[in-house]
Amino acid sequence: CGIVGYVGGQSALDVVLAGLKRLEYRGYDSAGVAVLADGGLAAAKKAGKLANLEKELADRPLPSGGTGIGHTRWATHGGPTDANAHPHLDNAGRVSVVHNGIIENFATLRAELTERGHELSSETDTEVVAHLLAESFSSCGDLAEAMRQVCRQLEGAFTLVAVHADAPDVVVGARRNSPLVVGVGEDEAFLASDVAAFIAHTREAIELGQDQVVEARRDGVTVTDFDGAPADIRTYHVDWDA
Ligand code: GLU
Repeated sequence: CGIVGYVGGQSALDVVLAGLKRLEYRGYDSAGVAVLADGGLAAAKKAGKLANLEKELADRPLPSGGTGIGHTRWATHGGPTDANAHPHLDNAGRVSVVHNGIIENFATLRAELTERGHELSSETDTEVVAHLLAESFSSCGDLAEAMRQVCRQLEGAFTLVAVHADAPDVVVGARRNSPLVVGVGEDEAFLASDVAAFIAHTREAIELGQDQVVEARRDGVTVTDFDGAPADIRTYHVDWDA
């Protein structure tokens, strides 16, 4: 339902939580965050309101880092439980993904992953993406390329945002039939389902086109189609108040 990703010099956790609060009006049943820190990935997710997640984070704080993602979920596949909340991780706990929409062919992908030895731990359509990204990244070593390879296997509607512990300075995103906007800041970048998530930080925005992948780093963003062909980037200024 609501998606926020961040890479930059601020605490990713603080930026992501504040962004998720700006998207709360859309309604949701669970929430979660993941941050890259100290060479690893740490995540927390809880059914219920953001206040439940914040209590969990107060009880079990995450390490601080400058790259992270967060999600408020409106369940479509799998009930609103902690396990089904996003972010979803691969079995090694190195890659983490959040998703809006529905992966229509998830059952086929899930069966194939299980056959290849992956253990899926939720009932969501989303979790397959974390496992597929882990596989692709381990063969190509590039998170944006891994996202392109995965998107080419997906059917349905999706906004995806992901991070990988072995690519600590990168947040990637992709979209089909579901919105994704990029906020370009000074030495920082944001990915979100809605500009409201980042206009407190920057009003320079890029609207991702249909079937595009974005790689965001502190010093800039790159956009391609799902086959890797560079896409035109149209930056616009968000001039409304929120
Ligand atoms: N289909 C996904 C799920 O049920 C994402 C739902 C959403 O858009 O929040 O977990």
